[in-house]
Amino acid sequence: MTDSPLIHLGSLLRADEDAHAEGTLDHLQYEQGGVAHTLPFAEPASFEVDVNSLGGSEMYLQGSFEPVLTMDCARCLREVLVPLEITLGTLLRYDPSADAPYLEEAETGEEVLVFGDPNLDLSAYLAETTLLAAPLSVLHDPECRGLCQVCGHDLNLGPCEHMAQVPVEEIDDDLGIPEGSGHAKQNPFAALRDLKLPDE
Ligand SMILES: [Zn+2]
Ligand SMILES: [Zn+2]
Repeated sequence: MTDSPLIHLGSLLRADEDAHAEGTLDHLQYEQGGVAHTLPFAEPASFEVDVNSLGGSEMYLQGSFEPVLTMDCARCLREVLVPLEITLGTLLRYDPSADAPYLEEAETGEEVLVFGDPNLDLSAYLAETTLLAAPLSVLHDPECRGLCQVCGHDLNLGPCEHMAQVPVEEIDDDLGIPEGSGHAKQNPFAALRDLKLPDE
């Protein structure tokens, strides 16, 4: 397990040598706006990055990152594992005056990761990329029946007394969706639809 995802760019900056780094992370620790954050992963997440010089202080990073996030089902709140397969690709720029690495938008609209320490810590970059790639909400099962809005009973386990009179087939599909999460029915997680998740 790697503590933080570092890639050493000293020889690339001195002699244009390509750089490579790989490892696994069980969490990412990073700072954003002066506040320390931790992004935990459900399983060790492997990363692999290559950096090639583009001449001068510019270079290109490409690679992959495969974290597994733990999210709550939008209807019944049970935990759902959300595996992500992220393709990394970003411009880098070395600027010795930069304290911590930060993302900046270039004139072309592309994102540039600006860094000042040749031992580049990718924690904040990987965390931000992961959060952007994560779905807004997930369901543990597309057919999840959610919680009873009266007593909170998990309707996946069977009807409660508030539902007893309603035949299960007639239960409105929207029932049990917490207010404001109507977008849960849209498809940011369409890719997960075929995913078999373990029953609890
Ligand atoms: Zn659910
Ligand atoms: Zn109930």
